[in-house]
Amino acid sequence: MAGIEGKVVLITGASSGIGEATARLLAKHGAHVVLGARRTDRLVALADEIAAAGGSVRYRRVDVTQREEVAAFVAFARTAFDRVDVIVNNAGVMPLSRLDAFKVEEWDRMIDVNIRGVLHGIAAALPVMQEQKRGQIINLSSIGGHVVVPTAAVYCATKFAVLAISEGLRQEVGGDIRVTVISPGVTESELADSISDPEARDGMKAFRRISIPAAAIARTIRFAIEQPDDVDVSEMIVRPTASP
Ligand code: NDP
Repeated sequence: MAGIEGKVVLITGASSGIGEATARLLAKHGAHVVLGARRTDRLVALADEIAAAGGSVRYRRVDVTQREEVAAFVAFARTAFDRVDVIVNNAGVMPLSRLDAFKVEEWDRMIDVNIRGVLHGIAAALPVMQEQKRGQIINLSSIGGHVVVPTAAVYCATKFAVLAISEGLRQEVGGDIRVTVISPGVTESELADSISDPEARDGMKAFRRISIPAAAIARTIRFAIEQPDDVDVSEMIVRPTASP
């Protein structure tokens, strides 16, 4: 099945930013979208908006750090639509700080959400896709998965990990299943709200002035999905034209 129309697309982190914009765009183009995140009030509002515009949508609370919850999210989608064509492992957090600020709990949270969350999505969706002998796994890395900057060592490490996991997955299952990793540059979203460190927050504020809209990344995801089955868009970097 080429294109977007009729595909069942699961999106984690659909309650804001890139996930929200992606859900809106894919639903507009005829996908059955299944929204996951922890803030269900946001999911309800988005699902209502998509349904009112004639889209096909379901939502379910999911904390991607909990393997059973991600499994239940995928099972929920399969029960609703009988298939899982695409999972977008998009949920992420970015509480930046210098390593010598020792915000160890924030390091753990980034590892849990950004790495374990992606692995949980793969663990839940891949068996279904292998059974179907088709599917697509789209993981969100970052420019931070290609370069390291001060205050971002752990965040970048998690995004380097997403690149490594995606490449390994493609090599192992790429015969039947498409694997795509998207690396956005600075994009409008709530991502910087998780920064508790004042120095890192101020640095990011200046940097975020050149942000591109979340819809720009949604269009990239749409492009990767709508290619024919024999075309795997394995990696894309999408960044602002402007320099900070
Ligand atoms: P937002 O903060 O706007 O969105 C992050 C999403 O992740 C929210 O929907 C949030 O939902 C969800 N999330 C966080 N923790 C969990 C959890 N434990 N379980 C389930 N969902 C969770 O940021 P973006 O839209 O920017 O981020 C999306 C992805 O894009 C991330 O992986 C990020 O690293 C990546 N990215 C973003 C860039 C940018 O500049 N914006 C640049 C490069 C990459 P809730 O809190 O409701 O659970």
